[in-house]
Amino acid sequence: MNMDAPVLIVGGGPVGLATALDLGRRGTRSIVVERDRGTGAELLAKAGTLNERTMEICRFWGIADAVAKCGFPDDVNLDTIYCTALDGLYIGADPRPATKDRMLPKGAVEMLRKCPQFLFDPILARAAAATGMVTLLYGHRFERFEQDGNGVDIELTELDSGSSRTLRGRYLVACDGAGSRVRRALNIAFPGRMLSYSVSAMIRADLADTKFGIRNRYMFIDGKGTWANLTSVDGRDLWRFTLVGSEAKLDPAVHDIRGDILRAFGPDIPFEVLRVLPWRRSQCTAERYRDGRVFLAGDAAHTTSPTGGHGLNTGIGDALALGWMLHATLNGQAGPALLDGYEAERRPVAMRNSSISTENFTSWIAAADFSNVLEPGEAGDASRRRIGAEMSAALQQEWTSTGVGLGYRYEGSPLIVPDGTPEPPDPAASYSQTARPGHRAPHAWLRDGRSTIDLFGNGYVLLRFDANTSAGTILDAARARNVQLGQVDILDPDIAALYERKLVLVRPDAHVCWRDDAAPAAEDAARLIDTVAGF
Ligand SMILES: Cc1cc2nc3c(=O)[nH]c(=O)nc-3n(C[C@H](O)[C@H](O)[C@H](O)COP(=O)(O)OP(=O)(O)OC[C@H]3O[C@@H](n4cnc5c(N)ncnc54)[C@H](O)[C@@H]3O)c2cc1C
Repeated sequence: MNMDAPVLIVGGGPVGLATALDLGRRGTRSIVVERDRGTGAELLAKAGTLNERTMEICRFWGIADAVAKCGFPDDVNLDTIYCTALDGLYIGADPRPATKDRMLPKGAVEMLRKCPQFLFDPILARAAAATGMVTLLYGHRFERFEQDGNGVDIELTELDSGSSRTLRGRYLVACDGAGSRVRRALNIAFPGRMLSYSVSAMIRADLADTKFGIRNRYMFIDGKGTWANLTSVDGRDLWRFTLVGSEAKLDPAVHDIRGDILRAFGPDIPFEVLRVLPWRRSQCTAERYRDGRVFLAGDAAHTTSPTGGHGLNTGIGDALALGWMLHATLNGQAGPALLDGYEAERRPVAMRNSSISTENFTSWIAAADFSNVLEPGEAGDASRRRIGAEMSAALQQEWTSTGVGLGYRYEGSPLIVPDGTPEPPDPAASYSQTARPGHRAPHAWLRDGRSTIDLFGNGYVLLRFDANTSAGTILDAARARNVQLGQVDILDPDIAALYERKLVLVRPDAHVCWRDDAAPAAEDAARLIDTVAGF
């Protein structure tokens, strides 16, 4: 039966677009169905920070430069300030240099970037379209689907005409956000914790001449703790004002967000409210990520508190995972178990990242005894200094979380061959490189100026650190299974020391899946390839 495209993607938010981009760059066609009439047209007060790993993936997709030049200035500080109001009392600060003054964290090849979603999503959409492999169907609402042994049919409504349309693909990827209609249709439970109902407002205000000057983020604290924050969206005059929230739903039609902003700004700082977005702060993870030919990705599969900025970044990891796995499967380069690896690998990462985000959120609330924060005079100053120091200590993990982005590992994955070494600690705030199977392959600069990370992406790569060690059996086994595998020799002793073994097998997502000092015998090499490629 005719297919409209091998992969159908419901939802043209960042994760749907990223999945299409990844597939398109590999040469697999997809159709993205999005009910909105375009991408990034609305100023959405949502994700604004792309972590080091997301930026590395953007580098592979060829869009890291576009993100770096998205318009967020690289010379504005990324400080956080704790205060009672913009015209109120100073409590403390966490200074953080501007992008241009920051050093790359150890082990990272790309810098964490500020890039608001209303700029990031169009970069993804343009790059996806430029592959020539992606059809973006805007103004189409996904209604329902049916799957059979060979494919998936989805029914859409074209919103302008009201007419129905059906598309058929081999696989369906649901990137339709936290309320995912696809997930609900599959009756996949979405258990977790409800943390609060919140409202964000996108506002325009010139804060250059205000008491604390321009900072990246202001945390507003009263006698009960942090009640709101203000985060720079474009490094200039666009800001996201967010209420910590309440247990009851906040209806923006009734809730006086202007009153909240006035409380935080004081009466003398003019501002314009551009858009108000109600949202739910929650930590939920879908019980299953797959049902037959249907996969969940991004917020459809997991929600996180934005504290730490891990939601979109986790979704970008999903997009990369589905991209290489679907492409390999569709092209006869993988066995049926490869796609099972998606849930086995990505679900634990979502659980980890969302619980770190919740920890960050609870730190806001429980960081200190805030009761004296508004007290005047010397005694109040002392309390504020204490609260500032305690907030600063409690929130370090939120501001610096290199480990969250780069340190996740696919422990226990059926697609990874362990080497018997113990699992190292997994701190959120710092990252130590290791070529242990399951981890992201270490970055090191090669003599030609590229990173080792630049070697990965298309097919598997067998790194060889000793010219006398033959990898022949592995290459033969891959050829026999039609698995795309290239060998790269690196004879630099420092990089060899970093990878710790003479032969290291790296997957298209830059994760190590096997390593040893010698290639296995032919039969074992066949088993190795079968394991890592899901046969
Ligand atoms: C205030 C706030 C701040 C945040 N800050 C950060 C941050 O700094 N860093 C970070 O990593 N994350 C952050 N996040 C989280 C981030 O915004 C989300 O994780 C991200 O948007 C998820 O992307 P997605 O593509 O999975 O889903 P969404 O962005 O929700 O996109 C889903 C898309 O599907 C479409 N859709 C839904 N149903 C249908 C249908 N039936 N038919 C057709 N189309 C449909 C929608 O129109 C939408 O375009 C923040 C979130 C909030 C609320």
